[in-house]
Amino acid sequence: MEDMDDQQLPEEEPTGSEGAPEEQFRERDRSLCPCKSKREYRDCCRRFHRKTKVPETAEELMRSRYSAYFFRLVDYLVETTHPDTREKGLKASLAKMIHQPTWRFLTIEAVAKGGKEDKTGKVEFTAEYFIDGEQQELHEISRFRRYKGVWKYLDGKS
Ligand SMILES: [Zn+2]
Repeated sequence: MEDMDDQQLPEEEPTGSEGAPEEQFRERDRSLCPCKSKREYRDCCRRFHRKTKVPETAEELMRSRYSAYFFRLVDYLVETTHPDTREKGLKASLAKMIHQPTWRFLTIEAVAKGGKEDKTGKVEFTAEYFIDGEQQELHEISRFRRYKGVWKYLDGKS
């Protein structure tokens, strides 16, 4: 994959030398989306993160959740978890673990249903990340189900 180095990885904390926070956000918006769609973030997962749009397919939701892990958007991850499987301590445990991995790459391996007319769907993916300087891989088959018409993450099997 050639576009890997184009990605801005959030490995460095902003030092203040890179301009105002708004400038950093604008740069993020113009960068390629972490979900590897090859689109700019502002035309991809940002619409879902900002709730101006809801994902139309399970794959879109899956990608936006990966991007949410990437940008550490805990609330989005909680909100997009299906109420049936959303545990009480989810937010707290996400808040605790979300800063540990640095996400590196996402590959969608397979999609079953999860389309605009479907009520359930499965997405198989591999996500690469670094934790404590070591590269790791997460391979998971995630299940998605609509709740009040909106796609939600149900659970995953790795
Ligand atoms: Zn995206």
